[in-house]
Amino acid sequence: MRRIDLHTHTTASDGTDTPAALVRNAAAAELDVLAVTDHDTTAAWDAALAALPSGMALVRGMEMSCVGRGEDGYPVSVHLLAYLFNPDHPALANERKRLRDARRTRIRVMAERMRADGVPIDTDQLFAEAGPAVGRPHLARALVSAGVVNSVPEAFNYHLSPRGPYYVRMDDTDLDSAVRMVREAGGVPVLAHARARARGRLLDVAHIEELAASGALAGLEVSHTDHSAADRKLLLSIAEQYALITTGSSDYHGANKHVRLGEHTTQSEQFDAIVAAGTGVGVVQR
Ligand code: AMP
Ligand code: ZN
Ligand code: FE
Ligand code: FE
Repeated sequence: MRRIDLHTHTTASDGTDTPAALVRNAAAAELDVLAVTDHDTTAAWDAALAALPSGMALVRGMEMSCVGRGEDGYPVSVHLLAYLFNPDHPALANERKRLRDARRTRIRVMAERMRADGVPIDTDQLFAEAGPAVGRPHLARALVSAGVVNSVPEAFNYHLSPRGPYYVRMDDTDLDSAVRMVREAGGVPVLAHARARARGRLLDVAHIEELAASGALAGLEVSHTDHSAADRKLLLSIAEQYALITTGSSDYHGANKHVRLGEHTTQSEQFDAIVAAGTGVGVVQR
């Protein structure tokens, strides 16, 4: 039985492990297959490959910031995992860059709002220390360093919350276009944690079904720490109805999140289906 974890982050986005540390920690966690899926960037791919220990396989991927149709009909933020796409596909590469720029602008504006309120955040330092894809967890760590809050999760309760006074929305990629672009780049689009209700409002199930019925969406992340048993059951039934791939993953962020590598895993035959559907880059086995 291969141990397969298909959703992890590095210092290229908002994880705290460098790409090399991530693959070492994955080996220590006895994973056989690891996907590196930073938000909106492929910047960790080469360093993860270079450090990949023998006996391990690396799936190159990302987690794209998208906007879908919420249950209430209004736009809602959703994450799309993309595996094995060609990083040089122009439309997708341009969109990744646009998203990273939007991330920086958004963090800068949130920090300005905090400073106006007397919360001391130095964005020059934040950007200097962060990788190419900055996010709210970087602001969270800056708030911890400044002694404003005691922990990263605490920062999300108020300072970084969508219901808080400093929150700025990001201009994310339309979910339908993102799924199409990932396919055009030879990639495999899998909806990440679609029922993670703690993050706020949820994606309309009808929107998932439309994407599945059109054949564009390849899979659903089912086993995830933010999904209840009922949520998993619902997602499994959708997957069954539309013959979608199902995955399970940790969504590891190092010290930024309390999940362990391999805390949730993907079944072998589901992983094989992802490999069979991907044509952009191959899985690298050491
Ligand atoms: P952003 O991409 O800038 O909107 O930030 C979202 C990131 O923050 C995701 O990677 C989440 O894992 C992380 N996040 C969201 N809510 C929390 C929370 N309550 N505690 C810790 N991390 C969180
Ligand atoms: Zn993240
Ligand atoms: Fe996510
Ligand atoms: Fe993630």
